[in-house]
Amino acid sequence: MTEVRQGLVWMVKQLLPPACPLCLRSFPEKWTEPFCADCLSGFRPLPEIHCPICALPYLTGSHSSHRCGRCTINPPPFAKVYPLGLYQYQLRDAIHQFKFNQKVGLDRPFATLLNRIIADLTVTLIVPVPLHRKRLQQRSYNQALLLARELARLKKIPLAKDRLQKTVETLAQQELTAREREKNLKQAFQVKGTLDGERILLVDDVLTTGATAVACSRVLLAAGAAEVQVAVLGRAPIG
Ligand SMILES: [Zn+2]
Ligand SMILES: [Zn+2]
Repeated sequence: MTEVRQGLVWMVKQLLPPACPLCLRSFPEKWTEPFCADCLSGFRPLPEIHCPICALPYLTGSHSSHRCGRCTINPPPFAKVYPLGLYQYQLRDAIHQFKFNQKVGLDRPFATLLNRIIADLTVTLIVPVPLHRKRLQQRSYNQALLLARELARLKKIPLAKDRLQKTVETLAQQELTAREREKNLKQAFQVKGTLDGERILLVDDVLTTGATAVACSRVLLAAGAAEVQVAVLGRAPIG
């Protein structure tokens, strides 16, 4: 039955003109971008002046991309964060659709854009930030895994689906300060097996304080990874 339904969905899709996966308006003829021009113009790119490690954007007035205070005092274990754009306005709304609203079909269009940002990056393994089993049951899918799977397909690099696991259920991060977030996540993640010399691309939807990326990177490096880079859809404008 599911196969019949999938077949029908496929047939209907072939009959309908291609449309923007966000606003559902038809694409103009010969359109090759994954979203329409209107939606794309609402995705604000990371400002040129930002922290070279955690991608924290600086307000106008800064003239050079120096390390931010936090990365200077307490350098994170990951090498660099690559965001698609600022976690604001349309991109923020689109990420919410992807994360909470069952809009799982945004995985491929998002990955297409994010893949351009990391085009020159050499990595050997793609690892999604995992959800705890209970959270996964509530939400039914892990948006970071969907995104990582598409990036792995585009970059032709293996995906490590279950190597990094979240073994401790933690409080929702949104309500916590940066320090509380770090404490909350300490020992929340575990790696199965070893990662001898792997150069990892850690994939998540949003980076705010970076506490999740820090906690994941620590265990990945402790398991033998040579390096961790981080790719996210949205970089919050404040750390
Ligand atoms: Zn659109
Ligand atoms: Zn920084």
